[in-house]
Amino acid sequence: MIPISEILDKDNFTREEIIRLLASENEDRSALFARSAKVKEENVGNIVYFRGLIEFSNICGKNCFYCGIRKGNKKANRYNLTDDEILEAARFACESNYGSVVLQGGELEGEAFTLRIERLLQRIKELSDGRLGITLSVGEQTREVYRRWYAAGAHRYLLRIESSDRDLYYRMHPRDKKHSFERRLQALYDLRDTGYQVGTGVMIGLPFQTPDHLAGDLLFMKALDIDMCGMGPYIEHADTPLWEYRDQLQPLEARFDLALKMIAVLRLMMKTINIASATALQAIDPIGREKALKIGANIIMPNITPGVYRDDYKLYENKPCTDEEAADCKNCLEARIHMSGNKIGYDQWGDSLHFKERN
Ligand code: SAH
Ligand code: SF4
Repeated sequence: MIPISEILDKDNFTREEIIRLLASENEDRSALFARSAKVKEENVGNIVYFRGLIEFSNICGKNCFYCGIRKGNKKANRYNLTDDEILEAARFACESNYGSVVLQGGELEGEAFTLRIERLLQRIKELSDGRLGITLSVGEQTREVYRRWYAAGAHRYLLRIESSDRDLYYRMHPRDKKHSFERRLQALYDLRDTGYQVGTGVMIGLPFQTPDHLAGDLLFMKALDIDMCGMGPYIEHADTPLWEYRDQLQPLEARFDLALKMIAVLRLMMKTINIASATALQAIDPIGREKALKIGANIIMPNITPGVYRDDYKLYENKPCTDEEAADCKNCLEARIHMSGNKIGYDQWGDSLHFKERN
């Protein structure tokens, strides 16, 4: 077996090499993190860009087996921010010099929804004089809808593949038209064609997921030539079908550790993409996001959803900061990011360098 140090010197990893890196421990693990930190610094710098996250609604038409706000969860307390509340949150991001916002919510389809998002995009652009960059994350839509939203001002889109393995995908989703693996893939291609910077990602530590699956996920992202990635640990939720398999899960700490390694390996494989430090990391470790920023991530999504709603956007248990107001988060984040050895790219969009290189 070749030593980890030799694998780290390569430009491309095989599936087996990725599996070795994901299993690394002790000094091998430290060597991986040291290398990914260096590659990050050399290629995207030690600057962290902010995307103010507005979780505008937890009303969702889908039934993903892992998610606490799935349609079938009758216990979820549903909410839908008013347009004014959304615009107020965007104004907060603008005044706080965050540079960008993410509009994220449950997946709905139809003209009313399309039009609402379209108008919100236009109004956010207006109120910020074009200063705020806007990322969308509202699931699978038609090409035409993606086109309209792009024209209205969104320029980045997050759509996790959740798992790039078709069989595992269908253990996480119902087998029906609304949850088609092929359609999700097609949506990623459509987003790319429309002109968006495209982000995808997976959950790490799912039941039935193996190191081979995770290696496949990283190879998938590389093959798709993504611009951005957001991936984080899977965290079980009691009111979901997957709860049944909780006994089979790795301990939270192990899922957390695996998520860090996934980020580190992806940074080595895709040196100039944007990698988000997922909120779910912080649900496991109070300084989880900062740890990810140290070893390869360069994007953070401070939650700026009005405090009263935050508790209801529970994709998973133990979501951090659900009881705080946005401003509290801002202050604590600044200190944390400086501690992680990074600077904050205030007032900048912080677009994916990889996207710029490709175009
Ligand atoms: N409805 C949109 C956006 C909101 S969900 C969509 O599905 O794309 C955003 C992400 O939350 C999902 O992509 C999923 O990866 C993550 N998520 C959902 N449930 C989770 C859980 N139990 N643990 C960790 N992440 C979860
Ligand atoms: Fe809806 Fe997204 Fe949750 Fe699936 S993951 S149920 S699409 S909010």
